[in-house]
Amino acid sequence: MPIIASNFKTNHTRKSTNDFISSINEYLKSNDIKSEVYVFPTATSLNDFDTVKNLTVGTQNAYYTEKGSFTGEIGTQQLDEFGIKTILIGHSERRHILGESQEEIAKKYEFYKALGYTIIYCIGEPLEVKESGLENTLEYIYEQFVGIDTNYENLILAYEPVWAIGTGVTATNDDIKNVHTAIKEKIDKPLLYGGSVKVNNVREICEIPNVDGALIGTASWIKEDFIQIIDNTK
Ligand code: 13P
Repeated sequence: MPIIASNFKTNHTRKSTNDFISSINEYLKSNDIKSEVYVFPTATSLNDFDTVKNLTVGTQNAYYTEKGSFTGEIGTQQLDEFGIKTILIGHSERRHILGESQEEIAKKYEFYKALGYTIIYCIGEPLEVKESGLENTLEYIYEQFVGIDTNYENLILAYEPVWAIGTGVTATNDDIKNVHTAIKEKIDKPLLYGGSVKVNNVREICEIPNVDGALIGTASWIKEDFIQIIDNTK
């Protein structure tokens, strides 16, 4: 059963998020879909998605606190209000653009693990590392597991090579297979691929050995396209 997740990043308004989520929910309710579907809206568009039963809504980020003085952040008091129990941690945009260190990421992971959240934990190498070969790529990726308890029962992994995110350049099937197989040998958890997944390549990607689904940005932001993506992987 593939896991199909949409990461909105900094896109969609509250209104369009509600419309998107209720449309996807309706679609899942009335079609025989085996995929497990997740949507990660921006924090300002989180809501009480009480009537949404057919997909899981998660947060793209939150701080490791219930509440307090952390300007610009949200904590579990805000997430609880909306029944959010799923979080993305370690996304490359947070690592490389927002400057989250592995130490910060590990703290966040421990905090949300202790609360039983489902964690989609992202890993992936930049272009110069990829170009230096598979061994270096894997070494770089394993460093992103420092401080991370990979035995956690509610853990889903997402391999997202930095050079493939938002670039239109998807990793080759061999690249994906090699990295996924190596990670799976060490960590037996669901492992998604992310990085320029599109309507027309999602099925093929999900059929690669050791790929358990996809974490999708750009190609998932139009609801008709996301429905097509889900439909292509059912
Ligand atoms: P794109 O699908 O736009 O490449 O983004 C992937 C991603 O970062 C999902 O988290």
